[in-house]
Amino acid sequence: RAEYSRPVIQEETYRVINLATEKVPKENATIMSLCRNEDLGGIVRSIQNLEDRFNRNFHYDWVFLNNEPFSDEFKDKVSKMVSGEAKFGLIPAEHWSYPDFIDQDKAREERNKMADMGIIYADSESYRHMCRYNSGFFYRHPLLQKYRYYWRVEPDVDFYCDVDYDPFSVLRQHNKVYGFTISIYEFHATIPTLWDSVKEFLGKNPGAQHKNSLVDFISDDHGNSYNLCHFWSNFEVADMDFWRSKVYDDFFKHLDATGGFFYERWGDAPVHSIAAALFLDRDQIHFFDRIGYNHGVYSMCPVDDNVWVNSKCSCDKNSDFTFRGYSCGQRYYKVTNREKPSNWKQYAD
Ligand code: GDP
Ligand code: MN
Repeated sequence: RAEYSRPVIQEETYRVINLATEKVPKENATIMSLCRNEDLGGIVRSIQNLEDRFNRNFHYDWVFLNNEPFSDEFKDKVSKMVSGEAKFGLIPAEHWSYPDFIDQDKAREERNKMADMGIIYADSESYRHMCRYNSGFFYRHPLLQKYRYYWRVEPDVDFYCDVDYDPFSVLRQHNKVYGFTISIYEFHATIPTLWDSVKEFLGKNPGAQHKNSLVDFISDDHGNSYNLCHFWSNFEVADMDFWRSKVYDDFFKHLDATGGFFYERWGDAPVHSIAAALFLDRDQIHFFDRIGYNHGVYSMCPVDDNVWVNSKCSCDKNSDFTFRGYSCGQRYYKVTNREKPSNWKQYAD
């Protein structure tokens, strides 16, 4: 059994920048959102929120990607709200379409079967293209080529606390690669054969797994089976050089060739998370435990009173998901030997 070291992140990691006296640093980074024209209302809400809490002081660029051209209305409204440069990109058709080796009749049959099981997005083709795009293509888009780090933002999310430090600097200065804020269990029915494909890849690529990996976060038996834990990828602050690396490229191609993105409904969250938990040093994964956040029905709200007050959070600590039953937060704390906030039990069930 590996001995888990204490987290290396110190208090000064989140060093607050004195905006009056310091030059605000700028990393080789961008915020990015994949969305549709009809997501305008929701993305404007997310932009206003993250600009208020973070980007109005940092002015990072914001890249918007779409499989259809953005409307003039979308570009006009969004450009006015972003304090950095807003850039709008069209996704090349070959990154958002069926590969030749996919049997589309079989894909349709499998969608129908999944729909009968009542799985969310079971019958959606576009959702599958979206998950595959986020898994294996976004970081290859021409507009993202010049950047190393990205912050993924979806429509209709909330940021509850001031981010008066630079999350990209946190990653770079501490040699981190993948940052998350919420973790959760996946629906097994969406990925029935994913783990078999992962094991097949590991069998063919011995040495791909890092010797100090975080495999115990995603497996209860040291990698024999998948426990469905993953980082919720609607929020990500991460290093695209990882997705651009040979091991990840080989991994994605291996998964893609099985057809699982279309015959099943593999999400980019388990794909990214499994890769991060296997191929990275466990110390390269970072929990942004101060970035209060909401997407849909789940929130991360810092339950530590010092953090909540000093970061001027506006969330209800009772809404924090981290220590609840369906979250993988407790497991993350356990396998990384991380000290829980003293009052965490009040926010567990
Ligand atoms: P959920 O978070 O899993 O419920 O999925 P979402 O519907 O929020 O989609 C995830 C992300 O992909 C969001 O940023 C959406 O705006 C975006 N997205 C989903 N489907 C499409 C699509 O067909 N086209 C484009 N351009 N973006 C999409
Ligand atoms: Mn979403």
